[in-house]
Amino acid sequence: FLAGKRALVTGSTSGIGLAIARSLAAEGATLILNGFGDAAVIVELCEELGATHSGADLTDPAQIAAMMDAAGEIDILVNNAGMQHVAPVEDFPVEKWDTIIALNLTAAFHTTRLAVPAMKRKGWGRIINTASAHSKVASPFKAAYNSAKHGLDGFTKTIALELAEHGVTANCVSPGYVWTPLVESQIPDTMKARGLTREQVINDVLLVKQATKKFVQPEEIGALVAFLCRDEAQNVNGANWSVDGGWTAE
Ligand code: NAD
Repeated sequence: FLAGKRALVTGSTSGIGLAIARSLAAEGATLILNGFGDAAVIVELCEELGATHSGADLTDPAQIAAMMDAAGEIDILVNNAGMQHVAPVEDFPVEKWDTIIALNLTAAFHTTRLAVPAMKRKGWGRIINTASAHSKVASPFKAAYNSAKHGLDGFTKTIALELAEHGVTANCVSPGYVWTPLVESQIPDTMKARGLTREQVINDVLLVKQATKKFVQPEEIGALVAFLCRDEAQNVNGANWSVDGGWTAE
């Protein structure tokens, strides 16, 4: 049902973004991938999905503009690229704060402002932002991430209202913990910040609030994003979809 649609998924060389790209490609969309990684792996992914790839660093607005220019008109924009850093606020590296806000929040503003004119002209568009349970609730030691994700929720609601009469919807998908490199790589810092073992971090920090006690699978997020692209989802707008095993229900 997405034949003829062009979809850009940022941060789609890994984890959740890759699963979203696979899900949209399976419905016939033409994919533009973005993100870092091994060149040979990226070539393989492009062949698998019939996709093209931009290696733009989304913390740099000039590289975002160049990516959007090369991408042409986008029908489905998924702002998914993101990173995490775990540290007490008084030790939080200033450059990490700036990078996380730039990637997890400001990049979505730039891609959106550049994609919206074509969506409005065509009277159809989908903007889907990968937020997080941390766009609704906080955990300690994630000052930049929680601020950026709460901001992304506010940004999404704003554009949802602005674009509602143009056939363009904007929504957030908000996973709890999904087993991806982003989660795995924060385990050592969380061990340090909280003085815990690896097993304690997994069971007593990561999964403690996820009522199902299971990690979310990236494919579950891919399936939800594909649903949001359907015409039946045309009135789903400005929502923030939790996929967190019940975490934020508490
Ligand atoms: P990941 O680390 O597996 O993938 C991140 C992707 O972003 C990769 O493709 C990477 O190359 C790309 N990327 C990183 N820095 C970039 C930059 N400067 N410019 C362009 N691309 C860049 O992470 P993931 O777990 O799949 O996370 C994807 C999104 O989901 C993020 O926004 C993250 O905050 C969010 N999220 C993840 C979880 C989780 O538990 N994994 C939970 C909630 C929300």
